[in-house]
Amino acid sequence: MEHFDTTKRTLDSRFKFRCHKDLECFNTCCEGEIILTPYDVLRIKNRLGISSGEFLSKYTSIHLDKSSSLPYAVIRKCPFVTPEGCSIYEDRPTTCRYYPVAQATGIVGEGGVKRIEEFYFFIKDPKCLGHNEDKEWTIREWKIDQGLDVYDEMNREWKKIQLCKRQEIDSKKQSLIYMVSYDIDNFRRFVFESKFLDIVDLDDEEIERIKNDEVALMKFGFEYLKYILKLEDNLKIKSKN
Ligand code: SF4
Ligand code: SF4
Repeated sequence: MEHFDTTKRTLDSRFKFRCHKDLECFNTCCEGEIILTPYDVLRIKNRLGISSGEFLSKYTSIHLDKSSSLPYAVIRKCPFVTPEGCSIYEDRPTTCRYYPVAQATGIVGEGGVKRIEEFYFFIKDPKCLGHNEDKEWTIREWKIDQGLDVYDEMNREWKKIQLCKRQEIDSKKQSLIYMVSYDIDNFRRFVFESKFLDIVDLDDEEIERIKNDEVALMKFGFEYLKYILKLEDNLKIKSKN
């Protein structure tokens, strides 16, 4: 159900909404495609107690964005909807949390003074009866209620990478980007069970951190993406002697 109101909104914009089981529309909205973020995958695969690779192959497809050639993991028909509602509610994806708000990230400003801005839209589907309820929110309040601040923090760097201009991406690089972004268990093997650490110079503390902390590994993955997409010369490469 994509009925975007294209007016840009801020954290102080207000809307009325309440979603609950007694509405006739209950569960009818969980049918569209959901583009996942790397953090969405991490949360859901841990909730399901499966590897990222198993989650991706069982529940998602790859969507290649036409303009950027970047690969995204997409749930085409959500398998987590049950008569009682969302079966992964506490770990539901960013898009589901935001609804009926959508968040976008863009580059604003002129010449050399450009900055990244986060803004919002409302989604108003006439079939969604939650809009007729009396409960009023600001987007700021909604984000707190839906636990979105942690998701935004985890997604922010990854979203910035999507915005940057980059060179043409061939299919080999697309596979690498997809693995680094979404398949965290495979990325861990790539870092620790290949020659990666013979080539990339990381200090011992960083190695310990990314070995033991999945979120730190995901964030390191974003740094690696910037490096392979030539957005930043941010990794030290060991000299060949
Ligand atoms: S109120 Fe809207 S979001 Fe909630 S179940 Fe109905 S259609 Fe879905
Ligand atoms: S993850 Fe949950 S909230 Fe999101 S579409 Fe699926 S059932 Fe609905």
